[in-house]
Amino acid sequence: MAGGPTRAGPAAQPALPRGARRSQPGLAPRRPPLPTRACPAASAARPTVAGVIARVEPLTPARALRGPFDYRLGPGFEGVGVGSVLEVPFGSRRLVGVVVELAEASEVGPDRLAEPLAALEMRVPAALIALGLWVAAEYVSTPARGLSLVLPPGTGTGGRRVRARTALRASLTGRGQGALGANGHGPRLGPRQRTVLDALARGPMNASALARAAGCDHGALRRLERRGLVAVERAREPSRRPRMVEVGARCEVAEPTAAQRAALAAVTGRLGAPGAGERPFLLHGVTGSGKTEVYLRAVSAVLERRRSAIVLVPEIALTPQTAGRFVERFGDAVAVMHSRLSPRERYDEWARLREGEARVCVGPRSAVFAPLDDLGLIVIDEEHDPSYKQEGDPRYDARRVAERRAADEGAVLLAGSATPRPESLRAYERLELPRRVDGRPLPPVELVSTLGAAGPLHQRTRDALERVRARGEKAIVLLNRRGWSNFLSCRDCGRTWGCPHCDVTLVLHLAARSVACHHCGHGEPVPRACPDCGSLSVARHGSGTEQLERELEALMTPLPVLRLDSDAGRIDHVLARFDRATAGVLVGTQMVAKGHDFPDVTLGVVVDADATLRFPDFRAEERAFALVAQLAGRSGRGPRGGRVIVQALDPAARALRHAAAHDAEGFLHGELARREALGYPPYGTLIRVVCSSPEAGPEAGAGEAVRERVAAAGVPALGPAPLFRRQGRHRSQVVVKARNREAAVAAVRDAVAAVAGDRAHRPVSYAVDVDPQ
Ligand code: ADP
Ligand code: ZN
Ligand code: ZN
Repeated sequence: MAGGPTRAGPAAQPALPRGARRSQPGLAPRRPPLPTRACPAASAARPTVAGVIARVEPLTPARALRGPFDYRLGPGFEGVGVGSVLEVPFGSRRLVGVVVELAEASEVGPDRLAEPLAALEMRVPAALIALGLWVAAEYVSTPARGLSLVLPPGTGTGGRRVRARTALRASLTGRGQGALGANGHGPRLGPRQRTVLDALARGPMNASALARAAGCDHGALRRLERRGLVAVERAREPSRRPRMVEVGARCEVAEPTAAQRAALAAVTGRLGAPGAGERPFLLHGVTGSGKTEVYLRAVSAVLERRRSAIVLVPEIALTPQTAGRFVERFGDAVAVMHSRLSPRERYDEWARLREGEARVCVGPRSAVFAPLDDLGLIVIDEEHDPSYKQEGDPRYDARRVAERRAADEGAVLLAGSATPRPESLRAYERLELPRRVDGRPLPPVELVSTLGAAGPLHQRTRDALERVRARGEKAIVLLNRRGWSNFLSCRDCGRTWGCPHCDVTLVLHLAARSVACHHCGHGEPVPRACPDCGSLSVARHGSGTEQLERELEALMTPLPVLRLDSDAGRIDHVLARFDRATAGVLVGTQMVAKGHDFPDVTLGVVVDADATLRFPDFRAEERAFALVAQLAGRSGRGPRGGRVIVQALDPAARALRHAAAHDAEGFLHGELARREALGYPPYGTLIRVVCSSPEAGPEAGAGEAVRERVAAAGVPALGPAPLFRRQGRHRSQVVVKARNREAAVAAVRDAVAAVAGDRAHRPVSYAVDVDPQ
């Protein structure tokens, strides 16, 4: 349909969206993100509409539909401002939109503007509207998707249908009831007003439901309220606080160490100072050095100053201890946003933050958009964690968004890790916690070579595990590969089992009795025979966590062996069981190396530690280093001490040598030098454009066109290079590596918009990833 609406809604006139001409399809915003200052259209030359105009960005997933569009704010909408969420008529549809700007005048004639149908009671802070639009531009997405990030949960574009959640509930008053029964003798009612009262005679209704049932907009409802026929009240039910599983949470408030005190003084000294948000802090402290205690005290200092704080953590199911410590320390002042909240709970926590009932938000990357006013501090715990990058559009990096938000709102940014990113080491002001709080040394790390080894476990590892078994202790074993074995092949004809939709091999999962694709979820029963030659001899190659679990069970009886990976069910339950057990083994993917604090683990093992180094990725070294260093941090936290064994094909690899020596400093300096020489981040910006199509061919043509246009803009671009087919789509990749970030983002945005708008490349889809992980 055309942009212009066709049906006269309950509003006086149908809306004519401003600039309703079809915009070119593509990825680029048609205009730069709107600032919240006065609009240029307010010049005297334009026709002027009395009253206030709201510029509304519609929240539709359609890339072609770009606002903002103008609506007139009539009576009943006095409270609407930047950040208000409105339900508006749009053609024959109703859309949810966000006010991105207020204006005095519109280019569109006054009689042609429609009024909104309803307004969500709670408004998004204006600063967050600016942030959402910035994310859209910075990560080459659409305003609607950028804004969805900052809206109350359940309001965004998502995959589902959007619907305004109105907080107004209307009911019939006694007078209203009388008017209905009076049969012409009571107050005069228009036909539409009668319809509304009739609807309410059946019981109270939410304003948005009433709008649908009886075509009653906000203004009409308010008029009925003023006449005493209808009562309107806020309908929010008391919020239900989400519950969390507790894993070894500890509450005692200890005297801070000298290093903790120094770090804390630096942070609190910056609170409220001019330019507080300009230079972030990096809290570089070995595992167990008391970083979390510094965060807790810094948040405390912020609350004392009547300001608010955000604490970003990697996935909460994986690190329930950290979130639990904040809840213990600050009680109801904390809102926790974790993935297991119901939509209702999510909304309630958002509302508690928005209304100032909660002033600390603890959560994963999306918590960077928490609706807090007067933000004083943003903490990023385990700042090296890859989960801070969003995988779907907009592919934002919460760390970068946090930098931006802190700078905009004058908040102090405090990022902490035992294995910080080279980026943060270079750009942030460093605070150090060089020793563990308990004074215990970091565990010794032994590197062993598995070249030519028979099974997944080296003899040294077996011996160490045997000691753990004999003494009734705990061990953690890391193998970053799920399933039983990575691929199957026929011993007679050489057939391998691959995914029909992706060009990858299928992974055997014995417990689930299937071979499965880790990219699209395709699964098949475990083959008994080769479908090509009928042979019954099918070989299994490589080993994953499932197989290792079985092997460890045999080795460690009678100690319990618990598996932790994304196939293993509730993560928090597995962690709680391991915490409660007096002895046993936790085996799993990188999940086992997250910030868990189990004081009685005496052995850590990394199997195939250089697996990541065999992938061509400039972050591979950083990953391998962090994996080993983080796992080492889980061992030897108790009085019995601990040790770590790292198995690798090439134990001499630089990342592994530095990790074994607990030498983050040396590793990071080498890494920075290498990146500078190659122009990688933080010395340059990487942008990945993936073109994909259902048939082979068009994706490569589109990739070539994108590369040419980017290069023509003077920005170096490589490719297109074919990627393996995924989910039935052929893919081609262009990589942009540039020193000038702004120019690179702009060149990619323009190139993709132009190529996407070119009919010659019709069936191709585009995914842009700025700062890919
Ligand atoms: P990190 O976050 O650096 O891994 P934590 O903050 O979790 O370290 O601290 C590790 C342990 O030491 C926790 O059990 C914590 O309660 C304890 N701890 C932290 N600071 C102190 C202190 N100043 N004195 C005694 N114990 C402390
Ligand atoms: Zn065969
Ligand atoms: Zn697949």
